[in-house]
Amino acid sequence: MNSRRRGILTVISGFSGSGKGTVTRELISRYKDNYWLSVSATTRQAREGEAHGVHYFFVSDERFKEMIAQDEFLEYAEFVSHSYGTPRKSVEEHLAAGQDVILEIEQQGAFQVKKAMPEAILIFLVPPSIEELERRLRGRGTETEAQIRARLEQAAVESEYMELFDYLIVNDQVDHCVEDIHHLIRTEGSRTYYMKEKMIDLQEGLQAYRKEA
Ligand code: 5GP
Repeated sequence: MNSRRRGILTVISGFSGSGKGTVTRELISRYKDNYWLSVSATTRQAREGEAHGVHYFFVSDERFKEMIAQDEFLEYAEFVSHSYGTPRKSVEEHLAAGQDVILEIEQQGAFQVKKAMPEAILIFLVPPSIEELERRLRGRGTETEAQIRARLEQAAVESEYMELFDYLIVNDQVDHCVEDIHHLIRTEGSRTYYMKEKMIDLQEGLQAYRKEA
């Protein structure tokens, strides 16, 4: 953790089938010390192998509404008839402590984050081709043909808004994609916005050399 500067907030979004879940998990496991992955609240049921507080906070519709009313979300959205939201407090605490935070969320939520925190990096992951997208969606083997069709329709809508993201990354190989994202975030950390403490240090150190007025 780098406590000298505020953490960088990165949003990873992408079509269903873009591989954003796999890429995010790999990024976090490869660079455990660099990133903190936010845990969202959702009203959907837990799938096999998912744990409360680890993959999601599984909450009731009532509890979700209460969290909205109490302004507990940094962003929230509906996705396939369920609600998903990013708890604001934990994200802000980690950023304030200098930890770089990753959100893996859908497109509407990504735009809400950008509005609330314009300095956030918005990344949109895409597959190398439409054929590959279909192949990945079918390859999961968990969805019906109608559900696959619905996901492709959703992708068609989302494709209209890709240019509102800061970066588009093609996920042809998870390994490359993870390295691209890691590199991008590191580069972002060199923005003067994040280097204020360093600049102040230098300016103070150089005070003695200023020409007398
Ligand atoms: P799943 O139900 O497959 O875990 O997630 C469905 C979609 O919801 C994915 O696109 C995922 O990125 C998105 N999602 C997960 N958590 C959040 C969240 O907190 N906010 C928003 N806006 N989307 C989320």
